Amino acid sequence: MLAHIVARCRLAWLTVLCSILSGCGGAPSPNESNTGRMVYVDTATMQPLVHDVVTSFPAVHPQTGKRTLRPALYCPTCKKWYPAPDVDQVNRVPGAGQCPKDKTALVADGPWPDGSEPSRKNGK
Ligand SMILES: [Zn+2]
Repeated sequence: MLAHIVARCRLAWLTVLCSILSGCGGAPSPNESNTGRMVYVDTATMQPLVHDVVTSFPAVHPQTGKRTLRPALYCPTCKKWYPAPDVDQVNRVPGAGQCPKDKTALVADGPWPDGSEPSRKNGK
């Protein structure tokens, strides 16, 4: 009886583990694309970095463990990533969503700070 329950638990755990490791058998190739990743700016250092997509912001920095990551927007004029403004800021603050230096409209696409790009394979 008890052994049966333990066995079931173990099976459930394996199933969870399996889905964490992105599926049994059909694991997606890491070279395929950067799906599931995006560019962030660490507001502590203002350095851009590529990290897994998360659902809540600010996101936890993988190195410091602090919640300093904001989604990044790219300025094609100064070729830099800037932290994206809050959604309510975009509506209320004039100039939000623009480059703080040259007022260029920030865009979501740009060269990724780790050298990879969404449309190209990850070079690492
Ligand atoms: Zn700019």
